Amino acid sequence: MTVRPILVAPDKRLKLYSNPVEKVDAEIHALLDDLMETMYAGDGLGLAAIQIGVPKRVIVVDVHATADAPTPLKLVNPEILWFSPERIVYEEGCLSFPEYFADVERASAVRVRYLDENGKTQEIEAAETLAVCLQHEVDHLDGKLFVDHLSLVKRGIILRKMAKAARAQVKDA
Ligand code: ZN
Repeated sequence: MTVRPILVAPDKRLKLYSNPVEKVDAEIHALLDDLMETMYAGDGLGLAAIQIGVPKRVIVVDVHATADAPTPLKLVNPEILWFSPERIVYEEGCLSFPEYFADVERASAVRVRYLDENGKTQEIEAAETLAVCLQHEVDHLDGKLFVDHLSLVKRGIILRKMAKAARAQVKDA
């Protein structure tokens, strides 16, 4: 297991569409392990493969606070089959947006189908924190970021600050 560098917005790779996994093999197992390790190192609740530069439909989540959820979860080719009509507003962050948080409205519950690490099809129903986290991570696989749920003005403010920070870092290097 290796902690991998996390891509930080506005890195263009974060906007890529991630491809379905054809076979859950040793390479995917290694990817899942690296994702877990990297997520824990960054103290995140979830991480998508594209955030470490791998455009594959693979995510991990671990919402420690949700006692009845089977955590940690490793999901390959996750697909949201159902969104509850009830909505929830949750203050979200993202390891690709260090230090930025914003209120995002999403479905308060979802049903998700995925392949587990043995390549077996599984389905889970998730609510609240886990539901929010799964929607956030599945979004990453379609190149969608949590700031894309915000108003144009709010998103613009965050992205401009991130671009400025990236330029400053290049100058310092
Ligand atoms: Zn994220």
